[in-house]
Amino acid sequence: MGKAHFGLIGLGVMGENLVLNAERNGFSSVVYNRTYAKTEEFLAGRGAGKDIVGAATLEEFVAALERPRRILMMVKAGDPVDATIASISPLLEEGDLLIDGGNSLYTDTERRAAELESKSFGYIGMGVSGGAKGALEGPSMMPGGTKAAYDAIESLVTKMAAQVEDGPCVTYIGPGGAGHFVKTVHNGIEYGIEQILAEAYDLMKRIAGLDGDAMADVLGGWNQTEELASFLVEITEVCLRTKDPETGGDLVELIVDAAGQKGTGLWTVVSALEMGVPVPTIYAALNARVLSSLRSERMAAEAVLYAPDPHSFPLGEPATGMAALRDACILACIASYGQGMALLQEASKLHDYNLDFSAIGQIWKGGCIIRARLLQRIQDAYGADPSLPNLMLDPWFAAQVNQRLAGLRQVVAGAALAGIPVPCLSSTLDYIDSYRTGRLPQNLVQAMRDCFGSHTYERTDRPGAFHTEWLA
Ligand code: NAP
Repeated sequence: MGKAHFGLIGLGVMGENLVLNAERNGFSSVVYNRTYAKTEEFLAGRGAGKDIVGAATLEEFVAALERPRRILMMVKAGDPVDATIASISPLLEEGDLLIDGGNSLYTDTERRAAELESKSFGYIGMGVSGGAKGALEGPSMMPGGTKAAYDAIESLVTKMAAQVEDGPCVTYIGPGGAGHFVKTVHNGIEYGIEQILAEAYDLMKRIAGLDGDAMADVLGGWNQTEELASFLVEITEVCLRTKDPETGGDLVELIVDAAGQKGTGLWTVVSALEMGVPVPTIYAALNARVLSSLRSERMAAEAVLYAPDPHSFPLGEPATGMAALRDACILACIASYGQGMALLQEASKLHDYNLDFSAIGQIWKGGCIIRARLLQRIQDAYGADPSLPNLMLDPWFAAQVNQRLAGLRQVVAGAALAGIPVPCLSSTLDYIDSYRTGRLPQNLVQAMRDCFGSHTYERTDRPGAFHTEWLA
């Protein structure tokens, strides 16, 4: 066999599926895994009969690749990426390309890119979304690095990516850590949508008294609409319909109510706070996961802190798609995407990423976890106005907000009276109400800051910085 077109390091769930994807698309491959037994197992199993060879050492791996080498690392994010780079970089030659396809922190990617580019290697930090199935069949990919490095992998990634009607779900994102930053924000949006659907489930169960199948029917209907048709709504329907084989009841009711996280949601929120971009819907989703993990504390508190009297309120009828609840979920999803896009805009300015927001909408339309029909509208909105300050100001999205705000208000008010937490829905309502308010009460905050700390304030009637001796 001649030299392989493509090399993969890390035969975890993602790596295994990505190399099968590359091979299926005509790229002969060589694989390396720290634990060689996993390589042997893969080659004897899913890799058997494919144009894929295994390497027991990194020396063998590097020697088996055509030049310039194109190497994708799919190892655990953090120290394992640095360890892998440290082991392989002495073996690389000028022009070779390393791609980190894991969920790395974008500032780590900036650092690694600077180090490797100074040695004349190409370095790409590439977000990959789609889970195991997406990795195999076609994920959405967000590669960042130099344009020259992207050009060297373009033929590979455009074939491997999911394909939608207007092209592959991959594009050059921008320099340095741009690709990993966009993937981080993608995951933050994902946190938001997952929590929104969990809140809808809780209300349908506790207020409307629906069982799993009835809720799944509602979700199935939502998945037919332009505003909510999406992968996450589709899998929520499946989760709600699935029965436990032992008891025959809804499986979801047997699952412990404590959600995990691996860091990307946290990084989204931390970056947003650092950059001064409000992302309350995404923040609420992260907080909800953190609070859910205090399970034993919550169970103890249930006996001490009383719930209000049962209180019912209209969510809409299941047969007609729970109209108020659907409106609330639509606006909260729009808010998640909008807050994520606003964060990308700020990061683009701050780091000179020169992001193309319309193109980001396009590559999220297929393959990834947040793929949704709504992304066509997002692509169009930023295509029409690349510097749109907020998605809600696009005419189509503004009409959605104006049409559906009453439903969101009704659901949040009802949930508050019933004592049912809806952190993403209520944060969205606050976000929209704050964003559409020309005069907020922060004039009083400024007065207090000047009163206790002489921080000064600006006046509405003339320019300048003013101080008052409030306590004199
Ligand atoms: P993973 O469980 O995160 O990582 C497994 C791989 O990392 C194995 O090949 C393992 O080698 C290697 N590894 C761990 N520590 C190492 C070290 N110190 N030095 C060298 N190699 C080391 O696998 P994954 O779920 O496929 O994820 C890979 C990356 O993609 C992660 O960054 C993940 O966050 C990201 N990602 C995952 C998904 C998903 O759905 N799973 C989706 C998108 C992105 P050994 O076999 O020797 O332990």
